[in-house]
Amino acid sequence: MLEECCLCPRRCGVNRQAGESGKCYITTEAIVSSYGPHFGEEAPLVGSHGSGTIFFTYCNLRCLFCQNYTISQLGEGSPVNREELARIMLSLQAKGCHNINLVSPTHVLPYILDAVELAVTMGLYLPLVYNSGGYDCVETLELLDGIVDIYMPDMKYSDEKTAEQLSGIKDYPKVNKAAIREMHRQVDDLQLDEQGVAQRGLLVRHLVLPNRLAGTKEVVRFLAHEVSTNTYLNIMAQYHPCHKAFDIPLLSRPVNKQEFYEAIDLAHQQGLHRLDRYHFPLPLWLTPR
Ligand code: SF4
Repeated sequence: MLEECCLCPRRCGVNRQAGESGKCYITTEAIVSSYGPHFGEEAPLVGSHGSGTIFFTYCNLRCLFCQNYTISQLGEGSPVNREELARIMLSLQAKGCHNINLVSPTHVLPYILDAVELAVTMGLYLPLVYNSGGYDCVETLELLDGIVDIYMPDMKYSDEKTAEQLSGIKDYPKVNKAAIREMHRQVDDLQLDEQGVAQRGLLVRHLVLPNRLAGTKEVVRFLAHEVSTNTYLNIMAQYHPCHKAFDIPLLSRPVNKQEFYEAIDLAHQQGLHRLDRYHFPLPLWLTPR
């Protein structure tokens, strides 16, 4: 897949094994910007000792409003080889984290799998969380069947024009829905242990954008009617304009309380009843990155 890269729906066709790079800038090694126990993720991932988060640099998306653009688009981070990445995973396990939370894994998946294989021989047993922007190929996801325990994709938009304008990819809604169906087929609804910590399943994130740009109505309809009314959903309030968002008048202000609670109401109206803890505005320490 890397020789004519088709790891993600961008299908750049470059030979990454030969050092060429496509839209995600990555060639033969993963880059990590930071890692550690994270307490701002969703409640079932955080538990009592935090989610063992690893932030991978760059992304297969180019969202104008990316809340982490210094990592995803400006390339903050350092390359890691197989052994280093395996040791990072084991260090998170040693700190008591409840899972290994792979943030933006899509474009570096082969290197993650290589490291997981090694880490397992060294004693890694935690659930793996695939925390992506939701722009994933079904063919690539099929390779993860039986490896990933928890899928945590975004659903960013339900309108093609908006997806094209804000992330440069018109087919995001179609690709995203197919990816979510495949993720749910593999792992089903989110299952928690007796302490309320996630063990396996699907958890969806939806960042509310100002002026209804995120298309919440269709997102929650799809989840309730085409996935499951038991879908665990985090409707997020923390949007703030950054990076190139100021160039788009409709994006150039935070989400207001009315817009946020309208999104919550829409989810409830569709019968979605497993919403992550929420209130408006979110305190900083509760803000997922
Ligand atoms: S993973 Fe990177 S190089 Fe490969 S298709 Fe996606 S954006 Fe292009």
